[in-house]
Amino acid sequence: MVVKVATESLIALQGVSKSYKQPNGQQIIILDNINLELIPGQIVALLGPSGSGKSTLMRIIAGLVPPTEGQVFYRNRPLKGLNPGVAIVFQNFALYPWLTVLENVELGLKAKGEPPEQRRQKALHIIDIIGLDGFENAYPKELSGGMRQRVGFARALAVEPELLCMDEPFSALDVLTAENLRFELLDLWLDRRIPTQSILIVTHGIEEAVILADRIVVIGRNPGRIRADISVTLPHYRERKSPQFQELVDRVYQILTKPSLEETISVPTSQPSTPEPPPKYQSLPPVRIGAIAGFLELLEERQGDLYRLAQELLLEVDEMLPIVEGAKLMNLVALKEGDITLTDIGKQFIAGEIDDRKQIIRTQILNNIRIVQQIHRLLLAKRNQRIPEELILDILEAHFSTEEAKRQLNTAIEWGRYAEIYGYDEPSGEIFLENIQSETVTASTS
Ligand code: ADP
Ligand code: MG
Repeated sequence: MVVKVATESLIALQGVSKSYKQPNGQQIIILDNINLELIPGQIVALLGPSGSGKSTLMRIIAGLVPPTEGQVFYRNRPLKGLNPGVAIVFQNFALYPWLTVLENVELGLKAKGEPPEQRRQKALHIIDIIGLDGFENAYPKELSGGMRQRVGFARALAVEPELLCMDEPFSALDVLTAENLRFELLDLWLDRRIPTQSILIVTHGIEEAVILADRIVVIGRNPGRIRADISVTLPHYRERKSPQFQELVDRVYQILTKPSLEETISVPTSQPSTPEPPPKYQSLPPVRIGAIAGFLELLEERQGDLYRLAQELLLEVDEMLPIVEGAKLMNLVALKEGDITLTDIGKQFIAGEIDDRKQIIRTQILNNIRIVQQIHRLLLAKRNQRIPEELILDILEAHFSTEEAKRQLNTAIEWGRYAEIYGYDEPSGEIFLENIQSETVTASTS
């Protein structure tokens, strides 16, 4: 047994950024200045809301996409092309339907140039370990979701990767199957039955991260930056109901629910003076006002701890977060250290009839939401009080990816329609001023 003296670096990312060029030529930043080092012996969870660039980061580590800026090191050497030490388990299994379980598992080994006999031996061995014994000759379509993902695991593990990357590997499975597989993986890891040195799991589930990980890296959105890096020292197997477990979940929840970019934990950069970023359009969460209204009504009787609330309402963080973010943007709720309370405006909203509610939302979004203000101003400036949606999309695409810009526009339209600020004409794709009222927007902040 060789005792290693210094901690080796398995993967190191230095100042890694990723941006994509939009069809209109604008660059959109997905990941911004990521510094991250992975060492052997750890399960690391990469936790963040959807769209924060988790999958992109994993792909960069695997060498599937190059970073726009910065560098990736694999065992202290700059990574060029595919990372030979990495195998990936995908959310949707990504199996070949025309190949049997055994053939699917052999694939990676084949790509590595293993001779047929050895390939078969290794594949059968891992199939056995992963609980697929007896299913060697089955085709993916004959298997349940859980069994299919076992094939995904076996295929990745067959090549004995140093770093096993998993992109939301349990999220396509039902709750019980996911829980079983999670613990089986943990067993394999803790009993050292797999030679993998390190595991990186991408997830949007806080509990999943706290159950599995030795370290939780929290990533924020728009652009993706590391917001926290938490080391988890609770011994396995962790008890979900224990106070320490709950405490940690709460802490991570707090970090995730801080909605604004400004609260990012600052990462030291080599350049002392980065140029000022362009003015930001808030990232509007894709929620309907109706959902926010329903949430506020529930909140009236259950003030307090956000995480408990989510549990009680059986909402996943990914489902709850957009609603909370939307309510926060409109100053209907206040967040403080993981606790959520209704603001006075929020209370007025709940107490109000439909027309009062519309008026409150109208005031709030006209005062606070930049893209709504912009649309409104453009409409007022136009003689026919109509603008093509492309105009707004162009503005948004300077700040968001094409796909996200569309989502942002949809949300802005949805909110503006509710508040009867403007309407949307489906066939022509035009936004038009709803009704000409006296435009006295009263200043209001929470
Ligand atoms: P996550 O896995 O956290 O949900 P992703 O890494 O999949 O996030 O994506 C982050 C953002 O990057 C999304 O807005 C997505 O639309 C954008 N994106 C990802 N890949 C590409 C690409 N090839 N071209 C343009 N935009 C992309
Ligand atoms: Mg993803």
